[in-house]
Amino acid sequence: MDVTILIPFLVGWLAALLVNYLADVLPTTRKLSAPTCRQCSATFAWTDYLLLKNCSACEKARGWRTWLTQLLGVVLSVYVWLSRYDVIKTPTDTLGYWLAMLLLVYLGMVFIIDMEHRLILHPTSIVGTILAAGLGLLLHGWQATLMGGIAGFGIMYTFYLFGVLFSKMRAKRMRAQGIEADEEDALGFGDVNLAGILGLLLGWPLIWFGLLLGILGGGIISLLLVIFVLIQQRYKENALMIFIPYGPYFILSAFILLYLPHWTTKFIS
Ligand SMILES: [Zn+2]
Repeated sequence: MDVTILIPFLVGWLAALLVNYLADVLPTTRKLSAPTCRQCSATFAWTDYLLLKNCSACEKARGWRTWLTQLLGVVLSVYVWLSRYDVIKTPTDTLGYWLAMLLLVYLGMVFIIDMEHRLILHPTSIVGTILAAGLGLLLHGWQATLMGGIAGFGIMYTFYLFGVLFSKMRAKRMRAQGIEADEEDALGFGDVNLAGILGLLLGWPLIWFGLLLGILGGGIISLLLVIFVLIQQRYKENALMIFIPYGPYFILSAFILLYLPHWTTKFIS
């Protein structure tokens, strides 16, 4: 048997461990600290942590996200490995296996942190900018990369400014009615940074389509949520104020455009 077939399984598992680790520690400590239990905050022994064992202090099992990430890590790694052969052709073929996996680790980490904490951390955005600029250069040259980055950032920054304006107006209206109002931003600045990063990665003009796909995806899911909440007859007045985290949808649309076979992107664009 050719042992090289084991490489994508092993690398996928290790890459997923890295994603799980970064998503576990970065949102709380902002540095590469020792992982701790979500329930009792006891520090994990590294061997226990990496072997996905329960917490030794309180026996709390590792969450379903950990296991799902491990599974997806292996599946996606094998998929990226196979796409090197002519069976599946994807836009990331030109990057090769290792760079395509590195990008997956980054996207997976940002996706999970944003889903769980509604947060896109500044340090991860800085690392992402460097990574995306480098990979963008390899994928489509410096002009398209630079243009894509500026367009992605600029488009979402415009939305961000509208969001700020909207929440200021809403707060003013609510105060006029004598209601305590918070000026919560409809769109976080992390989303603006992320759109810039994905712009570098997808390049111009694909970033247009990437953002559109993300916003449509986010809009459709949010609409379904609003309908669901209205059917439940609860939170009636709050139904239209559900926060839409765009980050995960942008990452999903970038994943679709970069990792799915060419024929699927032709089909949807
Ligand atoms: Zn514990």
